[in-house]
Amino acid sequence: MSSTHPANTSAAEGEPKVSNFLRQIIENDLDKGTYQSRRWAGSPGDAAHQEAGQPDPARIRTRFPPEPNGYLHVGHAKSICLNFGLARDYGGICHLRFDDTNPEKEDTEYVNSIIDAVKWLGFDWQAQGTTHLYQASDYFDFMYRAAEYLVQNGHAYVDEQTTEQMRANRGDFGKPGVDSPFRSRTPAENLARLREMRDGQHEDGSMVLRAKIDMASPNINLRDPAIYRIRRATHHNTGDKWCIYPMYTYAHPIEDALEQITHSICTLEFEDQRPFYDWLLARLCEGGLLKSPPPRQYEFARLNLTYVITSKRKLAQLVYDHKVSGWDDPRMPTIVGLRRRGYTPESILLFAERIGVTKSDSWIDYSTLESCLREDLENKAHRGMAVLDPVKLVLTNWAEVFGSDGYTEDCTQPALPHSAIAEGQTPPPDRVFKIGKEVWIEREDFEEVPPKGYKRLFPGNVVRLKGGYVIECTGAGAKDANGQVTEVHAKVIAGTKSGTPGADSVKAKAAITWVSVASGVPAEVRLYDRLFLDPHPDAGGKDFIEALNPNSLKVVTAYVEPSLANAKPDEKFQFERHGYFVADRVDHAVGKPVFNRATGLKDSWGK
Ligand code: ATP
Ligand code: MG
Repeated sequence: MSSTHPANTSAAEGEPKVSNFLRQIIENDLDKGTYQSRRWAGSPGDAAHQEAGQPDPARIRTRFPPEPNGYLHVGHAKSICLNFGLARDYGGICHLRFDDTNPEKEDTEYVNSIIDAVKWLGFDWQAQGTTHLYQASDYFDFMYRAAEYLVQNGHAYVDEQTTEQMRANRGDFGKPGVDSPFRSRTPAENLARLREMRDGQHEDGSMVLRAKIDMASPNINLRDPAIYRIRRATHHNTGDKWCIYPMYTYAHPIEDALEQITHSICTLEFEDQRPFYDWLLARLCEGGLLKSPPPRQYEFARLNLTYVITSKRKLAQLVYDHKVSGWDDPRMPTIVGLRRRGYTPESILLFAERIGVTKSDSWIDYSTLESCLREDLENKAHRGMAVLDPVKLVLTNWAEVFGSDGYTEDCTQPALPHSAIAEGQTPPPDRVFKIGKEVWIEREDFEEVPPKGYKRLFPGNVVRLKGGYVIECTGAGAKDANGQVTEVHAKVIAGTKSGTPGADSVKAKAAITWVSVASGVPAEVRLYDRLFLDPHPDAGGKDFIEALNPNSLKVVTAYVEPSLANAKPDEKFQFERHGYFVADRVDHAVGKPVFNRATGLKDSWGK
C-alpha cells in the first residue's frame, strides 16, 4: 500500500464541503480583513516583539494544544484534522502546542507519542522555514509579568481565604457571590503579596491570585476566578524555577495571544469560559502587553463515538489495570491503537470530514468509523484467502485424475478485483498458490444434513474451490469422539479449473474459500470485537469497567495463502469473505504471521 499523505491535499476536493460553521466564520474574517494588520516576528511573543516583525504571512493561525498527559484518541484526531485542516485550506498555519502548564502530569513519553500521532495523520507544523512546535511553559515569564500588570491596575488581588471559604463565598446559580475580605486591598499590597508568593514565602494552598471581575456575575466563571496558585512541584521544562503556576483558564488565552492565533477552537465545555478569555485578553491588550486584535475562541461539539470512551484518564485506567495490553492495544480508540488495528490515516481523515463540525452534542455511530476504513481499503487492500476455522477437505480421487497423490498445481488470482483498478493504472501482479489433494476449508462450509437453502458442501453438492477446481462433495470422511467432523471428502472434477476453457462446463452452486495444505501457512489471527457492550459505556457517571466485553478478543490459528504469509508488518489485506486484516505492527514476522481483524466486510454493529 502506498503511504501518501492525504492531509496535504484538501480532503474535500471536488466534493461539497460538509457542514462546518467554522468555515463561515473564517471566510467572513478573511473578507473583512479582521486580522490583516497582524504582524509576526517569527516566534511567539508580546506586543513589542510582534510589532517589530513583518506582516504575518499566515492568513489565519490555529493551534492544536494537547496536554501531554496521555496518548491521543480518536476525539483528538477530530480536533487535529479540524485545526490543521482549516489552516491548510485557508492559507494559514497551525501550531502544535504542548499545554504543559500543569507541573505534575506531563511526561516525555506522551510528548513523543503526540508528535508521532500528528505526523502519522499527515500533518506538519513546519511552515515557511519555521517549526511551529511550542510549549506553553515557555510563556511562564510573560504570564507572571501579565499577572503583575493586572495587580498593579486593580484587576487582580491575592486572596487568603481558605478553599472552603472561597467555595462558600462563590455562591451558586441562584445566589450571587460574596466579596472576599481581601478584595479591597490596594494594588501595592497585592503586588507585595504576589511577589512573596512567587518567592516561596507562603505555603502551598495558603493563598491564590484572583482576577477581580464581578462576584455577582450570572456567569460563575467571572466571579473572580483564580489565576495563579502556589504549588511546589518540579516542572519537566522549567524545573524548580517556579513555585506558583497559572491556572489553565488564565494560561490558555495568553498562550493563544502570544502565538498570534486568530481562531482558537475548543470543545463546548469551554463555552462558559469564553467571557473570561475575552476579558483577560482585553485587559492585556489595553495595557499594551498584547497585540490587538486578540484571538477569538470558538466552540464545537466534541466527538462522542458509540461503544467508545474518549477520556485520556479513563483510557489510562484501562492500561494501568491491564484491561488491555497497552495504549496501542488494537481495541483502544487511541491513535496508536487504531493504527495497530489496521486503520489508515486516510480513513481517519475521511471520518473527520464526514462527521463534520457542529455546535450541538451528539453520538456518532461506531459503524461510521468502520465504513470509512472499508471505503479506504476497498480499492487498496490486496485480496487473499485465509481459513479461520479450518477443517481438512480431502479430494479422494486426486491420484486418479492427476497421476499421484503428491501432485500439486499452481492457481492464480488477481490481487485486486478489476473494479479496484483505476483507468491507466497497472494492476498488481497476480497471487499464486497451490492446489493439491488436501485443502483447508471453513468448518461452516460443510453440513452433513444441509439446512434449507444451504449451497455449500453437503453430500452430492457441487461447489467451486474459488480460483481452483469444481468439486463434488461425498460426505464426512472422519469424526472425532464427540461426533465432530474432522475431515470432509469430495471428488475433484477434471477440466474445470478457473480461468481455463472448461471452467464453466460444470455448474457450481457456490464458490468457497480455501487454502491448500501444500502451500498454506499457519497464522495467528486476532479477532477483535467491541471493547464495551454498552453503546454509552461511561455516560451519566456509569462505571465503564462494568461494560467491558469479556469476548472482545478471540485468537485463532488460521491457514493463510503465501501472499499473506509474506506480508510486511502494517500491510493491510482483505481476507476474502472475512473482512479487512492487518499484519500486526508489533508481533508479525515473515515465517510467523500475525494478523489483526480491522473490520468485517459489512456493518455488524446494529445486530
Ligand atoms: P481528555 O479528557 O481525553 O484528557 P482533553 O480535552 O483534556 O481530553 P487535551 O489534551 O486538553 O485533552 O485536548 C487537546 C485538544 O483536543 C483540545 O483542543 C480538545 O478540545 C480536543 N479534544 C479532546 N477530546 C476531544 C473530543 N472527544 N472531540 C473533539 N476534540 C477533542
Ligand atoms: Mg485536558
